Amino acid sequence: MRPLKILFVAAEMAPLVKVGGLGDVVGALPAALAARGHDARVLLPAYDPVMTRKARVITLLPDGSGRLLEYRASTVPVPVWLLETAGFLRRGGRPYLTRAGTPWADDPLQFGRLGRTAADIASGRLVDAWQPDVLHANDWHTGLAPVWMHLENSAAASVFTVHNLGYIGRFAADILSRLGLPPSMNHPEALEFYGDIAYMKGGLAFADQVTTVSPRYAAEIQTPAFGSGLDGLVRARSDRLTGILNGIDLEAWNPATDPALENHFDAVRPDGKQDERDRLLHGLGLDPVTDPQTPVLAWVGRLTAQKGADLLVEALPGLMERSVRLVVLGSGDRETEQTLVRAARSRPGLLAVHPTFDEALAHRIYAGADMLLLPSRFEPCGLTQMYAMRYGTIPLVTPVGGLADTVVDSGDAAPQEAKACGFHLARPSVSALLEGVDRAVGTFRQPDRWRTLVRNAMIRRFDWDSSAAAYERVYQSALRDKPAPDRPDMPRRRSRRRHRATLGSR
Ligand code: ADP
Repeated sequence: MRPLKILFVAAEMAPLVKVGGLGDVVGALPAALAARGHDARVLLPAYDPVMTRKARVITLLPDGSGRLLEYRASTVPVPVWLLETAGFLRRGGRPYLTRAGTPWADDPLQFGRLGRTAADIASGRLVDAWQPDVLHANDWHTGLAPVWMHLENSAAASVFTVHNLGYIGRFAADILSRLGLPPSMNHPEALEFYGDIAYMKGGLAFADQVTTVSPRYAAEIQTPAFGSGLDGLVRARSDRLTGILNGIDLEAWNPATDPALENHFDAVRPDGKQDERDRLLHGLGLDPVTDPQTPVLAWVGRLTAQKGADLLVEALPGLMERSVRLVVLGSGDRETEQTLVRAARSRPGLLAVHPTFDEALAHRIYAGADMLLLPSRFEPCGLTQMYAMRYGTIPLVTPVGGLADTVVDSGDAAPQEAKACGFHLARPSVSALLEGVDRAVGTFRQPDRWRTLVRNAMIRRFDWDSSAAAYERVYQSALRDKPAPDRPDMPRRRSRRRHRATLGSR
């Protein structure tokens, strides 16, 4: 296909800002598209003055609310444009939550500006030198970009990706007038959501194409159980909805070269994993494992109900009765963090809990553990199971969303035949989690079967290139489906001067 100019807009991008999988995706997908010949760039809020120190100013926002900066560095594979506003800078590197763990009060305004700025770039108003063919918006933080593009009949096509429908960006409706959006947007077929406004609806309802991060999740969000009250809208747009599995960055996540590890390994020479396991236990102050029947279990992920963190807490006594070590890395719900930390104090040598965000430790855990626990209630794609598999750690997952699409259950069939690489939990419950652990430990105690399982897991490839090719097809559809700018039944594009006046009154 012809090379496209693609502008990503998102709230996170690894390694600059990462809270979860969204950061990983935005850190990798634009680069994968650039490798296929496209000119991909990313628009990101600047949450910290440190981020803007080395950036150059491109332009000032017309309403005086901030500046657009460009940041280029060897650590980021594509040009990054930073939206610098006083509100975002004040966050001091915390994109979503204050130190107290509550959402920032100015979220609707700041992320409203992010959507507006993205649409202005897409329409060629803010930056003369570069105008994208496709604007690719991600999650509720950017949901207003397709709205503005629709209202102004932007020449660029819009694609919107749902990374997690559990967060819909719901705010009081007065934000519409504050952002200069027309009252007609306060309508059930537009942004209205039970008397409020949901930014996620903007992307779902107005983007030319919608994607989500796994085929299974694309089907699930059309049902009330997974739809967060938006399943009707998702169903209505199902002819424009595609599920595309995330890839993983095979360079950054490579046990053969990972700088966080001292002992490297791969599917052909797996021995270093054993040494990393010893190093992990030692480093975390856990008792060494002398009995080959004792596995190391791990949790890496946000401590939220979505991930089943409450199930982990409830299952702890049962887990610790078994002959295992357990390592927990995760932050999130404060009470859950504290309960786990207390539990670790009462189980010295057996349970280690780190309620922090620690990228290097995450790498060491994927390398040193035997099993990763993922009793999620829903999981749009999930990256941790893919990292775990690449590092020879067997995931135990509820088969929902991307977990169902990526983890083949060990079942009863011989693993070689079945390509098994993990265990499915019957449901997100304490008993199913413990049953799953027992099943996995049973296999762990059969070294030949376990080795096959580990090898199957390690040779699976979840690369970005095939996902990037799938996104190219979506971009093509978006460009094809887009109504022509001069179609008589569409409102004509406003003149540059008129629009600047509108911006001025924002
Ligand atoms: P989600 O985006 O729902 O949080 P994903 O599985 O898609 O879940 O992505 C989670 C990403 O965040 C992975 O890269 C994982 O390694 C990382 N991660 C989660 N919690 C932590 C933590 N406490 N420390 C370091 N990395 C973490």
